[in-house]
Amino acid sequence: MRSLSNEKSTNRVVFTDTHCHIHEESYEESEHAYIRALDAGIHQILCVGTDIKSSYEAVEFAETHDNAWAIIGIHPHEAKKEAGQLVKLEQLASRSSKIVGIGEIGLDYYYTHSPREDQVALLRLQIELARLHNLPISFHVREAFDDFWPIFESYKGLRGVLHSYTDTVPNLLKAVSKGLYIGVNGISTFAKDKKEVYSTIPLESLLLETDAPFLTPAPHRGKVNEPAFVTHVAQYICDLRSITPQELSRATERNAQTLFFNTKK
Ligand SMILES: [Zn+2]
Repeated sequence: MRSLSNEKSTNRVVFTDTHCHIHEESYEESEHAYIRALDAGIHQILCVGTDIKSSYEAVEFAETHDNAWAIIGIHPHEAKKEAGQLVKLEQLASRSSKIVGIGEIGLDYYYTHSPREDQVALLRLQIELARLHNLPISFHVREAFDDFWPIFESYKGLRGVLHSYTDTVPNLLKAVSKGLYIGVNGISTFAKDKKEVYSTIPLESLLLETDAPFLTPAPHRGKVNEPAFVTHVAQYICDLRSITPQELSRATERNAQTLFFNTKK
């Protein structure tokens, strides 16, 4: 098991940004975002790939920053364009000890930038890659749970998170019953019709994320999002559920540790 940073020995409240894309920004922007995150107590940052190039960049960022790790994968939007590139992802997967997951992978029928059959085929291939390397998965599923569940259920023992969860309470409960974690980001701070979802997620299934540079939480709407803003997501969840930041930190840190940092390769 990899150890948490030495901040564990202090009483400072720390959080992990389990899903961001700051490695895709300019060198200067990503460096500044990284430093501000550490200053804000965001002591672990998981950089998630969206295509081959972004996955390589995520690994490079992780290897040059002590508190960053990489998740590699091809986003469903890119399924048509990048399907032939999967071999490069397979090569990358065994190249770095700082790779802690496969993602973001899944199905997006809201935009359908790639045909559904291409998305399904690529999702299956990448699930198999995750299984081969015993890595957890960061899933992106939007308006596609009817197709997602049969695929997910066709594999045994998959571990992962439904990142940026905004779907229904029934799908939430189904995910939790299958051992999936639920990723919550800045959408929670402004999607007022989703309160029931955010208050129903069991603490032992909850992970915090930003999806930076997208989905900036209140009160920074209009600005570029960054991992430091996990604190705003955390504050919203604490207020909604009447718990302390310490309680939320304890739960979400344990969850992040269990899902991403207990992997034996
Ligand atoms: Zn993302």
